[in-house]
Amino acid sequence: MMHWSLRRQSSWVQLAGHQGNFQLSKGGEVLKLYSEPEAKCLDCLMRDPLKPFVPQYYGLVTRGEHCYIRLEDLLCGLRRPVIMDCKMGVRTYQEAELVKERSKTTLRSDMYHKMVKVDPTAPSAEEHTKKGVTKCRYLQWKDTTTSTSTLGFRIEGIMMEDGSVQRDFRKIQTLTQLTEALLYFTRSHLNTLKAYHSRLLDLKDALKSSQFFRTHEVIGSSLLFVHDHSKASVWMIDFGKTTPLPDMTELQHTIPWSEGSREDGYLIGLTSLITSLDQAISV
Ligand code: ATP
Ligand code: MG
Ligand code: MG
Repeated sequence: MMHWSLRRQSSWVQLAGHQGNFQLSKGGEVLKLYSEPEAKCLDCLMRDPLKPFVPQYYGLVTRGEHCYIRLEDLLCGLRRPVIMDCKMGVRTYQEAELVKERSKTTLRSDMYHKMVKVDPTAPSAEEHTKKGVTKCRYLQWKDTTTSTSTLGFRIEGIMMEDGSVQRDFRKIQTLTQLTEALLYFTRSHLNTLKAYHSRLLDLKDALKSSQFFRTHEVIGSSLLFVHDHSKASVWMIDFGKTTPLPDMTELQHTIPWSEGSREDGYLIGLTSLITSLDQAISV
């Protein structure tokens, strides 16, 4: 039988995404189903000032029929980790997805049903009749009914030290509500709050000097907050929808999106988180 402390080291927790996208691995690694855009981003990131904020990328591996991206397991070595996934930016769909949808409309009944479950009045009469919504319509609805479009990010999920997971943070709309959530997540532990605050300030500096960040539209990427009784850190993960801009184009990441600008509002979200941690520290 494996010693309990060794077993803990390889514990795997997934707060977002399809369960089938990940495979367990040995030696402090996790395997994520290969996607070309994500692998390309990780390649660039390993040579960028953002490297210390991204899980180490060890290249590709094939398991059975599928190819996987080998990533550092950010939970490795933590005891009873507490985790929060924050999806960054003022929108979670790519401009390219919008354009594609205009030429070919595919209705999604799964997304229609998810929508109705939260708010039966949200779909239009036509959507009710067809019992379907387009993917972008669903993602836009979700962005505007969560803190995504206002605070520039939303909490996708939190796992507490007892393993319980919460995924419904739709009610968070203001910085004050966000501060309450952060106090709950850290159990108001001052050292944890301060460690997160200083890590995010360092991240902000690194983003300013990052060529990768200037030249990419960062969509659907998360900041993964991870702490246990003695350590706390934040990591940038999930680059499946992060794409390079056309030649010579650069983004500010600080301004609201208008179609064609490709602005993602990533820094609006980061500023909300830093401001809120500031408030939490001074409570
Ligand atoms: P989605 O696009 O729906 O958000 P995804 O399939 O692209 O999902 P990720 O967002 O990359 O997957 O990861 C899903 C979850 O898996 C994260 O919320 C986190 O809990 C966990 N996770 C991802 N990468 C790591 C890692 N390197 N170390 C530890 N945990 C990770
Ligand atoms: Mg994700
Ligand atoms: Mg993803």
